[in-house]
Amino acid sequence: MRARLVVDRSCATLALVGLVACGSPPPDRPAATPGAAPASSSASEEDEGAGDVGEEVGEEAGEEAGEEDAASAPPAVDPEVRAALDAVFSASTERSTSKGSPIDGDLEGGLALPLVGPGFRFNPAKDPGSRYGTVEMVQALVRAAGAVHARLPGNPLTFGDLSRERGDVIKGHASHQAGRDVDVLFYLLDGEGAAFPAKAIPIDPAGEGTDYRDLATPDDDIPVRLDVPRTWAFVEALLTGEGGEDVQRIFVVEHVRALLLAHARAEGGDEAAISRFADITCQPGFPHDDHMHVRWFCAPGDIAAGCKDMKPIYPWQRERLAAAGLKVKLAGPRQRTRPKLKTPAEARAAAGPMDERVTEFLDRREAWIKKPHPGRTYCK
Ligand SMILES: [Zn+2]
Repeated sequence: MRARLVVDRSCATLALVGLVACGSPPPDRPAATPGAAPASSSASEEDEGAGDVGEEVGEEAGEEAGEEDAASAPPAVDPEVRAALDAVFSASTERSTSKGSPIDGDLEGGLALPLVGPGFRFNPAKDPGSRYGTVEMVQALVRAAGAVHARLPGNPLTFGDLSRERGDVIKGHASHQAGRDVDVLFYLLDGEGAAFPAKAIPIDPAGEGTDYRDLATPDDDIPVRLDVPRTWAFVEALLTGEGGEDVQRIFVVEHVRALLLAHARAEGGDEAAISRFADITCQPGFPHDDHMHVRWFCAPGDIAAGCKDMKPIYPWQRERLAAAGLKVKLAGPRQRTRPKLKTPAEARAAAGPMDERVTEFLDRREAWIKKPHPGRTYCK
């Protein structure tokens, strides 16, 4: 199993620079569909409450505007893309230092995620000044998106906010301040099973959602569903790829977690990735049903420079650090003022007129907000 992962990874790395095509596309993978029109996200904006979760809230990953036709990247890598990838993979991990904690830290020497690359793009609706992270994180994201692109080509993965170049506050987020957080939109399919451009659309427990577009009319609604195999493929690539053990948490709604785990178990996914994913996923009060948020531990080299982790610290992380002669530095109480965040009611009001199908969905959605996590070791 280990050997297979190494082979996959090196193949994906070569594919990233356009040298090889790894694996073969699955049969009947549908072509990309034209982009969706601008829409207000129906995601309610809510403070997740739990202070130690430190999760982002408010203006969410989506509110996509002008989703362009998002076909998969062409086989020949554009020279600009190639240069951007070279910049990513030639960067030394010593270049970046994450300081403090995700909720009040800073970033030095942050590396920009390219706006576009093999199998991914930075959300064009987001401020490109919010696409910086540690070298370790940015490289891991590019590798994992490239691995999915090679194995299961289709629409690109869409990354939302990372951090500002020097860290600090991003409006609408309570974390994302130290270069170790990233929002990842789900891969989606339309009602016919064709690839649908990524957009922050809340997914229900059946794995389905609706792109309401104009919230006031049902005429333009498009049913969508979670592309479970590709979303799992990204998670698996992230957790089994280089630096996968540095992923601390994945915030995602409980029912999407369950769908991904069921798929992975049924399809013989990587056992270590399945078990790690089961342990590190957690749904904060803000439900993360339209994207997932991934957080990295402090890189060992950043700890002495003042990088601080938030709970939970898993036994395996303590062991890893102990083996390197290091100890976890835990973040203390929040140092900065918590950003002003909208309540769900304020968010609904700000979204403007809504058709009753939208309000019905939002009412239904309340059932999976702040659900407990019985029996979960690290998700309190
Ligand atoms: Zn986030």
